[in-house]
Amino acid sequence: MDHIAVVGAGQAGASLVETLRKEGFDGRVTLWGDEAEPPYQRPPLSKAYLLGEMTRDRLQLRPASYYEDQRIELRLNTRITAIDPAAHVLTHAGGQETWDALVLATGASPRRLPADIGGDLANVFSVRTLADIDAMEPAFAPNARLLVVGGGYIGLEAAAVARKRGMAVTLLESAPRLLARVSSAETAAWFAERHRAEGVDIRLNAALERLNGETTVTGATLADGSQIAADVVVVGIGVTPGTALAQAAGLECDNGIAVDALGQTSAAGIWAAGDCCSFPHGAGRMRLESVPNAIEQAQAVARNILGAATPYVAKPWFWSDQYDVKLQIAGLNTGFDDVVVRAAEARSHWYYKGDTLLAVDAMNDPRAYMIGKRLIEAGRSPDKSAVADPDTPIKSLL
Ligand code: NAP
Repeated sequence: MDHIAVVGAGQAGASLVETLRKEGFDGRVTLWGDEAEPPYQRPPLSKAYLLGEMTRDRLQLRPASYYEDQRIELRLNTRITAIDPAAHVLTHAGGQETWDALVLATGASPRRLPADIGGDLANVFSVRTLADIDAMEPAFAPNARLLVVGGGYIGLEAAAVARKRGMAVTLLESAPRLLARVSSAETAAWFAERHRAEGVDIRLNAALERLNGETTVTGATLADGSQIAADVVVVGIGVTPGTALAQAAGLECDNGIAVDALGQTSAAGIWAAGDCCSFPHGAGRMRLESVPNAIEQAQAVARNILGAATPYVAKPWFWSDQYDVKLQIAGLNTGFDDVVVRAAEARSHWYYKGDTLLAVDAMNDPRAYMIGKRLIEAGRSPDKSAVADPDTPIKSLL
């Protein structure tokens, strides 16, 4: 194999090319990205970077010299416009290239509010890229009024940063509670209380009718007629997987680019990793939007391209920082029917299906997180009453 081309220079693409070299692949490696920046970390964008506590250069995953030293050809500012699976050719504005193996690490892009309800007014921002944050930062001024649309992690993290910067914050969530896609009612209520205590005006069941303004946003109108004044809007209403290239090339897609357990798409010699793809999980398929998955799945795919033939088994974990709260999540709660609350030295929420432990949300409780993660990965489930009893030493659950 002479040339492995990787489309998408985000966390998955970066992890993939790095692993190819670590595993001894000596051929040509190209990494194609449509942003101006070399691969960078996205998690700090909505936290430390927006707060001004982390500099731009510290966001880079690797110094520029790394790619040169490793003979990884970084092709930035270059959007791949088509791939031809039969001819093994990719096309961009400047020409074409052939590949021996191709990896799609095309990530996901934020859903936007439609233009006809004000989604393209000035000072309406998404949170995904460094350019998004650089554009919104000047509007995050003390005393400015922020309206957040969406009560997922993006919305909550933006709200926390804005309060720290002295802004007035209103948050709209269309569902009856926060974090409805990813979390339990217990965790959602805990975070809602925390944000309200910090002064965020949280409006649940809020149906946004439109954003107001001529050229720059001035506020919002809700379906019940209420008006909210705003100088800046952050939209965090979920993401769409980057399937456009794959779909146009006729690759199978199913909530993302469909890959098998090794990471191969339906086209021979084309692989995918990260937010853009769905992979076999239990009886169905799953797509994971998380940094740990992007890193680990890309590592597995890189090894499989080189012949390892080892199925990828996800070990999901997540984290979020809001105010002084570090939320750590072990496992995936999909299908849970019970949540056991442990209010001991700190607070953790344990998700069960029947008597089987699926996931743990730990709020400033790294020990509960670590122990929950070890139990879940070992397929062991502690007795619910022991978990709930604050007098049970956490270590004894192991
Ligand atoms: P998300 O988790 O899908 O949450 C978006 C929320 O906005 C949903 O509850 C959604 O409700 C709601 N919503 C949709 N349309 C709305 C509207 N018009 N008005 C009010 N609410 C509306 O997505 P996200 O917060 O935008 O995050 C994007 C991605 O980044 C996700 O993959 C997320 O996990 C990831 N991320 C992760 C972290 C972390 O792990 N710390 C931090 C930031 C971002 P419906 O579901 O009913 O549509």
